Amino acid sequence: MEAEAIGIDVGGTKITALRVAGRGRILARAEAPTPADDPEACIAVMTQIADRLCTAAVRAVGVGAAGMVEAATGTLRYAPNLAWRELPIAARMTQALGLPCRVENDANAAAWGEFRFGAARGHPDLLLVTVGTGIGGGIVSGGKLLRGAHGFAAEIGHIIVEPGGPVCGCGNRGCWEQVAAGRAIDRLGRDAARENPNSLLARLAGGDPERADGRLVTDAAMQGDDIAARILAMVGRRLGEGMAGLANILDPEMVVVGGGAMAAGDLLLVPAREAFADSVEAPEHRPAVPIVAAALGNDAGGVGAAALALEELGS
Ligand SMILES: [Zn+2]
Repeated sequence: MEAEAIGIDVGGTKITALRVAGRGRILARAEAPTPADDPEACIAVMTQIADRLCTAAVRAVGVGAAGMVEAATGTLRYAPNLAWRELPIAARMTQALGLPCRVENDANAAAWGEFRFGAARGHPDLLLVTVGTGIGGGIVSGGKLLRGAHGFAAEIGHIIVEPGGPVCGCGNRGCWEQVAAGRAIDRLGRDAARENPNSLLARLAGGDPERADGRLVTDAAMQGDDIAARILAMVGRRLGEGMAGLANILDPEMVVVGGGAMAAGDLLLVPAREAFADSVEAPEHRPAVPIVAAALGNDAGGVGAAALALEELGS
């Protein structure tokens, strides 16, 4: 019997569980809304949907959660955008399911998924950047997931790039994720719709600037609205500048970009690539670093969490 694992991705709005075979093949899936304000209810939902997918072949459970996860204990210590603090997820899951459990930061898990089975397959040095409402990061270096001393490595969204800038979910001001991801697109979209009431963006928002969020900015830009395209280009450049700083530190072979904001595709990626080339140290003296779209989409975190659990705990 081929060994399988359950991989659970805990996002801000939904929890997805996948039953995954050794080579990353998804065999079954289950989903439920995230009880974001109630950590105990969240654990209960995770347990229920994992239990529903379990078979005799399942050897381990992997969880990807949006926050700082202590690697040694599988405890989620802090989640900037959820009400979770000091939550011993691995211990609870093992207690409830009778299976070993590995908990990772969600973007770390996604990086592992993309490395093993996705866009970075065969590339042992990669930086994964997930661009959604905020920014998550995962680093694979020399074929190993970089966890740091405690498991808190790659919290790249919370590097301060604009001192005194917009307030972040972590409590600081001017974090990278506040100026280079979904919230920045929302904010710039609302401002632009207010200042340009005759723009396509303002018309798509039905004349209510507050409705001009990232999705409408992307829609308007795809329909040729210059103002919306400029917003995505501005945010894309901030993304590329940050990636260049990280490339100076990590020297990755490639950067893989996933997350909900990637619905904008090249409208974000092209300016990100240009800003990366303008900002990275000595681009003419280093091999080009491809900045590519993720391949596993929303399943990257669950597949990666399952793969890590199986590889580290499944024998
Ligand atoms: Zn922050």
